[in-house]
Amino acid sequence: MSKPIDIIKPSVRELRAYTLSPHRATVKINQNENPWDVPARIKQETERRLSERKWSRYPDFVPIALHERLATFSNWTAAGVLAGNGSNELIQALLMVTVGQGKRVLISEPTFTLYRQIATVLDGEVLSVPLNESLEYDPDRLRSAVADSKPDVTIICSPNNPTGCLIDDDDLGDLLNASNGFVVVDEAYHEFSEHSVVSLLKDHPNLIVLRTFSKAMAMAGLRVGYLLAAPELTREIGKALLPYNLNVISQTAAEVAIEFYEAEVRPLVRAIIVERDRLFTELENIDGLAPVKSNANFIVVRSRISPREVFDQLLKRDILIRDVSGYPMLSDYFRVSVGTPEENDKLIAALRDIFKQE
Ligand code: PMP
Repeated sequence: MSKPIDIIKPSVRELRAYTLSPHRATVKINQNENPWDVPARIKQETERRLSERKWSRYPDFVPIALHERLATFSNWTAAGVLAGNGSNELIQALLMVTVGQGKRVLISEPTFTLYRQIATVLDGEVLSVPLNESLEYDPDRLRSAVADSKPDVTIICSPNNPTGCLIDDDDLGDLLNASNGFVVVDEAYHEFSEHSVVSLLKDHPNLIVLRTFSKAMAMAGLRVGYLLAAPELTREIGKALLPYNLNVISQTAAEVAIEFYEAEVRPLVRAIIVERDRLFTELENIDGLAPVKSNANFIVVRSRISPREVFDQLLKRDILIRDVSGYPMLSDYFRVSVGTPEENDKLIAALRDIFKQE
């Protein structure tokens, strides 16, 4: 007799769930969050606006005020903006309206695991092109994969999580021209690269850009992401979102964060970039470690000691990192987010200690 569990699609049962270790530590550098909290002025202004608003009323059906600010902030048109409950929700919505049986999704791995996960849950076929030996995008292989297999959706994470590499604008332009399908660029970390592909949107109607407030904007707890694309596409993708997907608190905080970005948030981003470059140099100087150049707020590091062991040793010292050794190509690597200068000092001292003992 068949069991209830047998009703679940076999492709889903084969998947490993996207999970995160439940450990806690004072130095938390495992999720690429902003190490500083949202600046006080942003919190205070958000609280002021929220206290003036009736909580008994639904949010706007379409969060126009937020879309307009996002459009100005991104240099795109408000009709081509969708806000979501984290960019995760927008990845899901985008794949829901494009992927089903017989549809192909091309990704370059190692990358953010959610793309493969959702495409698989939706019965799509996932095609994967490896990064090159330096853990950079391989434009030639990507272009031939697009030409050979004609994917319905190609997803490029740039800067890529967890390696930090960027796709070159010309290579992306070639991919867009070679693709009949969508090319999605996940720019969750774009602020740290001080680069964006949004300027390509006007000439490439098959380009879709995803962004988030969870990283540079220091608002991971509030769950806000956004998608930029041609208005005729956002109209369709929006059909897969639940009504009122974005609550009033998050919507208001996101509006305020944009208004205060230059004065309050950008200095934090600049400080993280400076720290990233310092951390990279320090890691390079530790015998047994080989960090990979990153354009984001994290660094993936090749390690002579097993990543699991480094994870455990750091946790004993109250530092929580990400063991990424389960990702393709990364069996010898761990990932650290860039923390505050003090946190980075603690990490460097701890790693020196661990690698000295060898
Ligand atoms: N894209 C990438 C590349 C990420 O690393 C993450 C978070 N780890 C997300 C999207 C999702 O971010 P959120 O849902 O918090 O916006």
